[in-house]
Amino acid sequence: MGDEKSAERARYDFKKAMQEIVDLRGRGTELISVYIPPHKQISDVTAYLRNEYSQSSNIKSKSTRKNVTSAIESIMSRLKTFNTVPENGLVLFCGEVAAGGDQTRMVQYVLEPPEPMTAFLYRCDSTFFVEPLSDMLREKKSYGLIVMDRSEATIGLLVGKKVVTIKNFDSQVPRKHRQGGQSAQRFERLIELAAHEFFKKIANNAEEAFLERNDLQGIIVGGPGATKDFFVKEGYLHHELQKKVVDTFDTGYTDEYGLKELVANASASLQDMDLMREKELIQRLLSEIRKENGGLSAYGEEQVRDLTVAGAVDTILLSEGLDRKRIKMRCANGHEQEFTARAPPDKPNCDRCDAPIEEVEGMDLVDHFFELAETVGSRIELISADSEEGEMLLRAFGGIAALLRFQVVM
Ligand code: ZN
Repeated sequence: MGDEKSAERARYDFKKAMQEIVDLRGRGTELISVYIPPHKQISDVTAYLRNEYSQSSNIKSKSTRKNVTSAIESIMSRLKTFNTVPENGLVLFCGEVAAGGDQTRMVQYVLEPPEPMTAFLYRCDSTFFVEPLSDMLREKKSYGLIVMDRSEATIGLLVGKKVVTIKNFDSQVPRKHRQGGQSAQRFERLIELAAHEFFKKIANNAEEAFLERNDLQGIIVGGPGATKDFFVKEGYLHHELQKKVVDTFDTGYTDEYGLKELVANASASLQDMDLMREKELIQRLLSEIRKENGGLSAYGEEQVRDLTVAGAVDTILLSEGLDRKRIKMRCANGHEQEFTARAPPDKPNCDRCDAPIEEVEGMDLVDHFFELAETVGSRIELISADSEEGEMLLRAFGGIAALLRFQVVM
């Protein structure tokens, strides 16, 4: 498992595997799921499994017993290939699943989750236990959160659906009442100075919390009244962060609770933003297509592949609804065929010489493009299938299109 995958591809692969796993059923209580958190010793897990193995001799049904023990054996031998648990932990699913008619087949999945596992878990059931992973399937993007007025500020993060408080602090800005002897004018000036310092402090804390995060999609700012708008308008934030401010929203509070209020009030805008990004990409594609000779656009699997190999592709747009495999077959005489289909064909012989097919390799089409893109430095954007744009990409362009670096006359 040496080759380094991009986070986006790792997430896609994980999602794809999960879609398969969720639907699998065992005949009896015989499908094994094992969750191993990072830092757990492989030897501890093996000891645990050995114990489960001996327990399973009590299972009454002979076929269930046999299937459970062979699944545990298979997991133990797979674990031998690991010296340590990978950084986010390890999840193994193994068992004999129904495969149509009376048939069953043995499956084994070894997944490295995109986020760290927290607990060790062993389950034996008629389905695989996937609940702890379903949360990870959601797109994890983060947003910076600031709630503030002139007396208090709280900085936090929205990661997925979770609100995390990073820092809360009060200001030294004096309240309304001035002390005797001070002129009203001087008092005003002191207040403004203190407020200015406080806004700078908020900006510094925001910089510390947000600037290094490259998954940060945007920043939303909340608070009661006009102070937050003043803060944004006057450009207190670091210029890189300033560009990421999405909008301001009214909240009643400026503490931890205020962060939750802010997320609730901004939720519609946040959802729109994810969709906006996809919309923009597809709109760019369409406007290129309308230009002479198709501008900097390409679509269709063949064309996009050829142009990618030629190094002409900046961004490949792929629909997540692309349910295809890139299949490679080789016959006994060495004839190779490569094509795209939902599944490998049933016929066991070569088209050209009728010799038996010896090797079949099927790779998810999206993964195939990820591999191509990596070799030439193109970017890949996955477009969700359920948006209007995603549907258009799938229907009008077969789910595959590209924005080009330069025009190629073919
Ligand atoms: Zn052949």
